[in-house]
Amino acid sequence: MRVYDLRTDTITKPSDEMRKAIYNAECGDDVYMEDPTVNKLQDMAAEITGKEKAIFLSSGTMGNLIPLLILSSKTRQILLEEESHIIHYELGGVAALAGVLPLPVKAKRGILTKSIIEDYFSPQPYYMSNVNIVEVENSHNRHGGSVYPIEVLKELYSFTKSKNVHMHMDGARVFNASIASKASVKEIASNTDSITFCLSKGLGAPMGAMLCGKKEFIDEAFKIRKLIGGG
Ligand SMILES: *Cc1c(COP(=O)(O)O)cnc(C)c1O
Repeated sequence: MRVYDLRTDTITKPSDEMRKAIYNAECGDDVYMEDPTVNKLQDMAAEITGKEKAIFLSSGTMGNLIPLLILSSKTRQILLEEESHIIHYELGGVAALAGVLPLPVKAKRGILTKSIIEDYFSPQPYYMSNVNIVEVENSHNRHGGSVYPIEVLKELYSFTKSKNVHMHMDGARVFNASIASKASVKEIASNTDSITFCLSKGLGAPMGAMLCGKKEFIDEAFKIRKLIGGG
């Protein structure tokens, strides 16, 4: 009898082919940016998401935390869906480490829309926090893998741009989202400022995640990754 363990896709294991590739990989010093395999991986991640640059991280949690740490000097509040991974499974790093106040918002199947979030952007008196980062999870873990329709994402992204607010996508499973929404990863990623995706989920790698975005943003991510011991 074959037993499929469906608790989570993080229990996927590297295939024989992947193990061989790991064994044969060319190695170098990654803090010196001299690991040819990591450099290639970063180039591939930038290419596939259509972003200027990418950084290899040890986890997706880091991929969500680093953008907050980069933006934390001017970020007071992050608007995100109330069932998001950041709220439930990252031990409050958003507040504890980045010092940012989470503003969890309810959304049907976890899909934020412009009409849901726009009320939070009306002018605020000085004693109220401003939202200056919006985070979306695609696909959405605690909503059974729900996926953002590309039109919804487009509308959200142009709205956040008009408000000069950073949009970050937790795309831990963006490759699944791409298949489900019939939009390429590149098209999905073109509708967010930064995106993180996991290598350790359905993709089957033993560990790791990528964070992709504009060159200056990822250059800063390299500094922050070192700051939090991820070199
Ligand atoms: C797994 C996951 C992450 C990151 O998890 P790590 O275990 O830190 O790699 C982030 N967001 C979502 C939606 C996830 O499923």
